[in-house]
Formats: sequence, C-alpha cells, structure tokens
Amino acid sequence: MSVKLYEKDVYLTECTSHVIGISQEKDHFLVLLDQTIFSPRAGGQPGDTGTIDGSPVISVFEKNEKIYHALSKAPKNKEVLCKINWANRLDMMQNHCGEHILSGIFFSEYHATNKGFHMGNDTITMDINMQNITDEILRKVENIANDVVYANLPVETNILKSVHEAGRYPLRKPLNVTEDIKIVTINGVDCVACCGTHPFRTGEVGIIKILKAENYKGMTRIYFKCGKRALEDYQIKHDSQMQLYQLFSANELNLMEKIKKEEQKNQEIKKQLLEIKDSIYETEVNKITEGFDRFYLHKYSFYDMNDLKRIAKKVSTTEDKFLTLISIPEKGVLLFHNGGFNIHCGNLIKEYAPDLGGKGGGSDKMAQAAFPSVEAIDKFLEKIDNKIR
Ligand SMILES: [Zn+2]
Repeated sequence: MSVKLYEKDVYLTECTSHVIGISQEKDHFLVLLDQTIFSPRAGGQPGDTGTIDGSPVISVFEKNEKIYHALSKAPKNKEVLCKINWANRLDMMQNHCGEHILSGIFFSEYHATNKGFHMGNDTITMDINMQNITDEILRKVENIANDVVYANLPVETNILKSVHEAGRYPLRKPLNVTEDIKIVTINGVDCVACCGTHPFRTGEVGIIKILKAENYKGMTRIYFKCGKRALEDYQIKHDSQMQLYQLFSANELNLMEKIKKEEQKNQEIKKQLLEIKDSIYETEVNKITEGFDRFYLHKYSFYDMNDLKRIAKKVSTTEDKFLTLISIPEKGVLLFHNGGFNIHCGNLIKEYAPDLGGKGGGSDKMAQAAFPSVEAIDKFLEKIDNKIR
C-alpha cells in the first residue's frame, strides 16, 4: 500500500518515490510507488495528471487499496521524480469543493440531495433530486455559495476509525464505505464522506457560478463552474459581449432593446423583399408558361430553393407543366408538377440522387435535393431525363 502524500498535503507538487511494482498492460504500464502525490480518480473527479520519471501520467486509479499510475513508458529508474500538474489539481480542488458547497446549500435550504457528479474538461454537472428548480432558486443558491467563499471557512477532513464514529457528524449522505472513512466538513455548510482532494479554506474556490439547469431523469442537472474555470468562462463571455456592444453601438443597459429593434427592422426588410421578389417571380412564371413544351428545365444563377418553390407554385395554378428547376447558388434541384403527370418526384430523388452525393426527398408532386457540385446535378439530370419524358 503506498503512502498517500496528497492526503497529508494537497499543496505538495513534487516528491521522490521508489517504484515497488511495474506490470505491462496492452499499450501502457501500471506503476506502483512506495508513496505518491497523485490522487486517483474517484466519485466523478478525474485523477491527477503530471509526470513520473519524465513520462506523462495517463491515468491514476485505486484498486484493492493500491494506487496504480498508468504510463505509456516504463520508468528507467527505481527512484523516480513525481510531479503533478498543479493547474489541473487546483482546477479539480476548486470545482470539487464548489460542488460540496452547492450540495450542502441545496441540502440545508431545500432538503435536496446531490445524486451524481461529473467533472469533464468542458462541463461540470451535478444531479440534484429536486424538480422545478426556478431561476430564483438557482440565483439564491449561487449567492449563498459565494458568501461561503467570502467567509473563507476552513475545509476540515477527519479520518474515522469506525463507522460508529460517523454518528457524531451531520452527514448529508449515508456512508457507503466501512473503512478508510474520511469526513469532509465545512462548518455550517456541508458535511459528507469524501476521499477527494480539498483546499484548506473555501476562499480558494474562487467564483462559484451556476450556468444552467435542465430536467434529468426526474431530477435537475445543474451545470456550474468554479475558480479559474469560472473566470475563463467570464472572460470568453465578456469578450463576445464587448463585440456585441460594438456591433449594435450599445451598452449593458440597452443591448437587448437594440437587438430586438434590429430584429424588427430585419423582419420588415424581409417582408418588403418578398413583395419585390413576388413581382420578379411573375416574369419567370411568364417565361415558363409561354412555351408549349410540357416539360420545362432551367438553371437559375440567382434564385435559391425557396424562390424556386414559390415560382413552381405560381405556375401550378394555371399550367400542367413538369418543372425541373435548378438553383446554382444552392446546388439544388427542384422537381415539381401539379398532379397531371404519372411521375413520383420523391422517388426519382431517392433512386438517383444518393449515388451522386445528393441529399433530399419529397412527395409525389414536389421533391428537392442538394448536390455537392453542379457537375453532379448535370449527371442527375441525364439519369432522370428518360424517366420523366
Ligand atoms: Zn470532496
């Protein structure tokens, strides 16, 4: 059993250890050390990262009271220098301790329990067995959590000799271990059995920010970020906010109002554009209806697929025509008739488009497909030509 230095001092970033065992797995080596500063993955928290004898540590896990360090290269020396990635350890401690604080508040304020914790590179979530958590509740919990940070309370770990001793502690979750019991207490905030790494005081957690909440299996999944992660998140969001201010000549007080006004303006312009387009469509409709051929094919270098659909519908009210209309800018084909032809447009697309990289479909009277190139469209037209005439 290796000595767990990370339990004695979470701020230790380097140590010299002796290799007491190496075994080879498929593509990596599992190394056992006499003492380690690497905390293993546990309870939703990933293990430490860093190097052993210069080799990057892939993962750290505990099995049968032994701590295994997975490395891609076996250490050359018996005595090895171990270094943890401190930025990563601090990130884990900040967010894990933030989880303790948030869980403790949900428990004391709403008798709700944290049923699951996941800490990934991008997202951190906890599942609270409570439904209908409103924005007001989230804001209240967030404010109390940050007050706990400002109070800079000690985060204490007590190691118990037996399960019976646990009765002295106001645990928010029943014990699920019988040996090596560590109780982590933030006085008046949280008390729970936990074997993770924690900072000495709550002040080290930094900002606690709840990002969003969503329904999850009859519970609520809460996304949050703490410490440096929360600061980086703020920096990214602040940068994009500043760009929005510039774009809309706005500030934090009138940005939404300006966006809504702009949206209204856009809707009006779209309406006007549609009216103008409608009169232009008439010219196209006349060109189609002037000819005697019941089959009409045309490539448009300006219109998109929505334009083509509108043109087709205008034609269908007066004429029995089979239309093959092509939009060059969207590399799309529209097949259309008003029911006067025994041709299934959707089936033509389904049968001939996929082989040419085309994607789409539709009904018997109208179907459309988008192609990767104009050449693919030409090949498609060749293939369907003798099927429709
Ligand atoms: Zn913990």
